[in-house]
Amino acid sequence: MKISVIGCGYLGAVHAAAMAKLGHDVVGIDVDSGKIARLSEGRPVFFEPGLAEVLISAIESGRLRFSTDIADAAGAQVHFIAVGTPQKRDSHAADLRYVDAAVQSLVPYLAEGDLVVGKSTVPVGTAARLAEMITASGSGASLAWNPEFLREGFAVKDTVSPDRLVYGVPAGDEGEHATALLNEVYASAIAAETPLVVTDYATAELVKVAANAFLATKISFINAMAEIAEVSGADVTQLADAIGFDNRIGRRFLNAGVGFGGGCLPKDIRAFTARAEELGRGESVAFLKEIDAINLRRRQRVVDLTVSSLGRPVHTAKVAVLGLSFKPHSDDVRDSPALDVAVQLRGLGAEVVATDPQAIENSRLRHPQLTYSTDLDETLRGADAVVLVTEWPEFRELDPVRVATLVRTPTIVDGRNTLDASAWRAAGWTYLGLGRP
Ligand code: NAD
Repeated sequence: MKISVIGCGYLGAVHAAAMAKLGHDVVGIDVDSGKIARLSEGRPVFFEPGLAEVLISAIESGRLRFSTDIADAAGAQVHFIAVGTPQKRDSHAADLRYVDAAVQSLVPYLAEGDLVVGKSTVPVGTAARLAEMITASGSGASLAWNPEFLREGFAVKDTVSPDRLVYGVPAGDEGEHATALLNEVYASAIAAETPLVVTDYATAELVKVAANAFLATKISFINAMAEIAEVSGADVTQLADAIGFDNRIGRRFLNAGVGFGGGCLPKDIRAFTARAEELGRGESVAFLKEIDAINLRRRQRVVDLTVSSLGRPVHTAKVAVLGLSFKPHSDDVRDSPALDVAVQLRGLGAEVVATDPQAIENSRLRHPQLTYSTDLDETLRGADAVVLVTEWPEFRELDPVRVATLVRTPTIVDGRNTLDASAWRAAGWTYLGLGRP
């Protein structure tokens, strides 16, 4: 099929490359000319495992190209909208200006039977509004909403082989046409019997934010238990294991730590609350404000634990921060707890040296005041405390005996509860986890 993907960021660039890998003829379009120049050369603009290989082979096959000109979307039958929906500067609501602009710029190039497919995460009600905009254009094109559930770090695999497909489509013939086109786009996933939910716009939009709200709630739930464990002497990691054996609860997403971040969960739960308030049902998801608050308190907890562990005034201490991205296998530092902890410690006067396998460049753009090092040993040398805030394998696999020879004081704050506490203690370290004695 001929496909256009409008917006080539974390979601769109992967989607465009994956669609070409599946055999479609794809044009990726973005307003950022720097991004398009790099993508055209097969160079991803962000770190995502496996993306470079897929990009290069798709470009070489002639099935993938990139452009800054929306006119190049003309001729495609399916147009994916993958632009950003960040939090507004002055409120918790989603900023829809990019989605609106993308659809408006696309409308003149739509032809009879074309399908515009929303992938961006949007507040419920957006699709119906955009559908009216498309209908009013008189092009004969229609709209579907097809939320994306990819996980950064596994984005290529998740796009090529999703765990489920959700189509929000209009009623009647238009809906059948949209479903048929999407089934053709996702023919390989359909053949693999991937669960498919065909529904209306509102449900499709809500599925995405509900999924993220649930995941955020699960993480903040266990972090709330960590807070209670901290004042009662219990161990939240054992508690998580024990409740996780119950299939109805499950162990995944029950790791207490510094909390969630990234370009999705935090802004999505805030936008959900804002939208529910607009709809007069703020109380239904008011608990998400508490989920957000618990999450942000964990960052503060890591900072407080670190400061109180120092045997000296914070402004005379060197703190080694291991990790900057919001999670391993990504260079994404949007709303990253790790970067936030580094910034807060620096703000308190500590000499902070931070390292990350992939996220230094992005962190430096946002916080040039921090000191960064690509050398792990240099980061650790002379530290009065080590703070692990992103569980990259290279940090999890550190040898406590060797690292003890580099630091000034062997104190480690394990912000992800990911290290073997007994091994670190045996090597002479003061080991401090979250929600653990
Ligand atoms: P991003 O900021 O990385 O990418 C957005 C891209 O859209 C940018 O490259 C920007 O230049 C481009 N853009 C903005 N306006 C445009 C326009 N008018 N025409 C063409 N391009 C335009 O954001 P992202 O992380 O890729 O997220 C995009 C959407 O997908 C968001 O709604 C997000 O919530 C959702 N989403 C993201 C993920 C993820 O893991 N990143 C997962 C699921 C859903």
